Amino acid sequence: MLLTGYDVPPIHHAAVLVEGNTIVQAGPAAEVKIPADATVVDTSGRTMLPGLIETHGHLIVLGHGNYATWFTWINSHGGRQMLMKVMETSAKQLLMAGVTTEVDLGAPLADSLAIRDRIRKGEVVGPRVFVSGPWIAHLSAAAAGDAMQVGFGGINTSTPAEAAQQAERLAAAGVDHIKAHAGLGFEDYKAIVAVARRHQIKVHAHVYAEQDVRNALEAGVDVLQHAGSAGTAPPYTPELIRDIVNAGRPVVVTAAHRSWVYPDTAAFPERLQDPELKKLFPADIYAEVQDSLKNWPALPYFQRTDREMLFRERGIKQFIESGAVMGMGTDSGTPMNFHSEALWREIKVHVDMGMTPQRAIAAATRVNAQIIGKGRELGTIEPGKLADIIVVKGNPLFDIMALSNVETVVKDGTVYKGAAVSEPRTGTAASRGQ
Ligand SMILES: [Zn+2]
Ligand SMILES: [Zn+2]
Repeated sequence: MLLTGYDVPPIHHAAVLVEGNTIVQAGPAAEVKIPADATVVDTSGRTMLPGLIETHGHLIVLGHGNYATWFTWINSHGGRQMLMKVMETSAKQLLMAGVTTEVDLGAPLADSLAIRDRIRKGEVVGPRVFVSGPWIAHLSAAAAGDAMQVGFGGINTSTPAEAAQQAERLAAAGVDHIKAHAGLGFEDYKAIVAVARRHQIKVHAHVYAEQDVRNALEAGVDVLQHAGSAGTAPPYTPELIRDIVNAGRPVVVTAAHRSWVYPDTAAFPERLQDPELKKLFPADIYAEVQDSLKNWPALPYFQRTDREMLFRERGIKQFIESGAVMGMGTDSGTPMNFHSEALWREIKVHVDMGMTPQRAIAAATRVNAQIIGKGRELGTIEPGKLADIIVVKGNPLFDIMALSNVETVVKDGTVYKGAAVSEPRTGTAASRGQ
């Protein structure tokens, strides 16, 4: 079965023909002409869909419980070399989970650009990565020195002119988008957006409180990240929701991290020692992550999760039910929010909260591609698009958990995971299910 990423019924007994890194045909197998010399990836009895897009990930973290001890550990175990090993590990975990594109929203500049370019050159196995480099923030002196801000390389600014100057510097260095982080006001957003427009890149804002969301919306920020996911305020006013919907401004709720991941872990702490998870970690990093999670209910990261859980359903439903443009992103890599499961967990939460499976899959593929400005080349399975295709067991429209079982991953026409082709190889590949 083929899900194209559009809001249309699936195509049954379908085939997809890939040439190089591009999809050239997709449709019912009877209508797709497969060249005699094609490499065939047999997807019989399975579902094909576009490669998933993660619109909010962090390669420099991978589930460790505490930023202060995490970055200290990295610094005492090789520093930037270890950081690169961490990013390589995260990248592989994402790709094996069917994430073929990741939008990275916060990491030191040189390391972000390095991992992105190394993946592009084929030196590292991972999704296509688009990076913000460090985020731009406006913080009090105390907050400016905290472990998260320092570890992620966050930039502290104090005026709109300074924010613009930093955005300019990042754009000139070649980042793919800008992340506007905490503490910024309307004038800061406006200044950052003006720079981004000139460079034709998007701005993602990290916003929770109503006034912050309002400021980012009115200043023209392209994507409202986190909105609706935290207990910093009761659910938003109907006026704010209406204005977001009417503006068609994309929202990425990042609902599952903390508010669902915490109670889900309480219900099944065994998930932290999942052998499938362990397989995708180097032993030293795995040991450090496990050590950090020994007493996970006491972690400072989850200090306000009780309150977030009170609002979690209203926070996400108000966007689902109002017809907002919703992308799908997870804050992947944050404590206990492992890259290998973050996106299917987020999608499942959206479905549990009332989104149809088809809309949720479209959000994680076609809509995500559009909101990051890559709608022309990514997000759907149709001729002309880059060949990012995943194959899952079962029917995700019947049971969305099928997305947790990604059997085959094709990125850019190359098979990275799957029984049919053991080694990554490029060329003409046809995916056929009868
Ligand atoms: Zn954020
Ligand atoms: Zn984040």
